[in-house]
Amino acid sequence: MKLKPEILEQIKEKIGAENVFEEEPMSAHTSMEVGGPAAYLFQPETKEAAAFLLQVLQKENYPFYVKGNGSNLIVHDEGYEGAIIEMMKMNQISVDGNFLTAECGAMLKDISAKAVEASLSGFEFASGIPGSLGGAITMNAGAYDGEMKDIVKEVTLMDKAGNILVKKNEEMDFSYRHSMCSDGDYLVLQAKFKLEKGDPQKIQEKIDDLSARRKEKQPLEYPSCGSTFKRPEGYFAGKLITDAGLKGYCHGGAAVSDKHAGFIINKDHATATEVLELISYVQEEVKEQFGVELKCEVKII
Ligand SMILES: Cc1cc2nc3c(=O)[nH]c(=O)nc-3n(C[C@H](O)[C@H](O)[C@H](O)COP(=O)(O)OP(=O)(O)OC[C@H]3O[C@@H](n4cnc5c(N)ncnc54)[C@H](O)[C@@H]3O)c2cc1C
Repeated sequence: MKLKPEILEQIKEKIGAENVFEEEPMSAHTSMEVGGPAAYLFQPETKEAAAFLLQVLQKENYPFYVKGNGSNLIVHDEGYEGAIIEMMKMNQISVDGNFLTAECGAMLKDISAKAVEASLSGFEFASGIPGSLGGAITMNAGAYDGEMKDIVKEVTLMDKAGNILVKKNEEMDFSYRHSMCSDGDYLVLQAKFKLEKGDPQKIQEKIDDLSARRKEKQPLEYPSCGSTFKRPEGYFAGKLITDAGLKGYCHGGAAVSDKHAGFIINKDHATATEVLELISYVQEEVKEQFGVELKCEVKII
């Protein structure tokens, strides 16, 4: 389904023709490296451009989906019959005393580097998560006993009408891999973090240590979305999958990692269909063998 030519022209004029892509393969915009084309991919550079997109697409009743770095996203091989709004071009990071503010498209590793530079501690846990700030806030991303909700002071959001709202941490409805943005009703524009003064060398050492632990435990040499499933209450997804005999199990080019069974990887030119079929198979086997339901952490469109 195409946008009316005059609407597309308006969009190009407002957000810049260089930020408009048609029939853009989503395999190039997701860390799993699978997925067919999106009818349109828009990359707004300002909040005004983002607001214009939200307003015009809704007025046209045209489907859209907001993404960050695509490190938790799988798009079907058929692609997406709508507009992907990719927020990676708004990526400024600034520091004021103990407060660090980052725009949605800033990568967590860059935010982490900025925190080291400013001798600020508290962001280390997130340094190895290969996502953007927008994706991390939406998912309440976390690792090594830290979560976004532990350090966020406030988040600036845009609702679908283009209105800007500032929400305090306790208003964000953060829980395990969830926030008030998880249902796609809000665009994350930026977040402000409260961090602690620290010794930059020690902060860097912690980042290096966590990075080494990731390299040792995770199949970072293959495309993936990280942990495919949420942690089921009282269990570990990786252990259940291993105990079900599925560690290393392959389906076409997709595989359950033999390094970390919680990761489904694109081992050898997998299609999205193969990845999604493997996810379903793992869910069925774990349910049948242990009666535990594995819910996807990965978003599928
Ligand atoms: C190797 C690897 C390791 C990983 N390790 C971890 C880990 O330790 N902990 C962890 O929590 N995750 C981990 N992940 C998963 C992923 O990196 C995180 O979920 C990350 O926060 C997603 O950010 P993203 O920018 O890539 O979001 P995307 O994948 O682009 O999107 C994820 C969700 O956020 C929404 N979204 C993105 N940007 C915005 C925005 N600006 N406004 C509104 N909604 C938005 C999307 O609609 C979607 O629902 C890992 C992934 C990989 C590949």
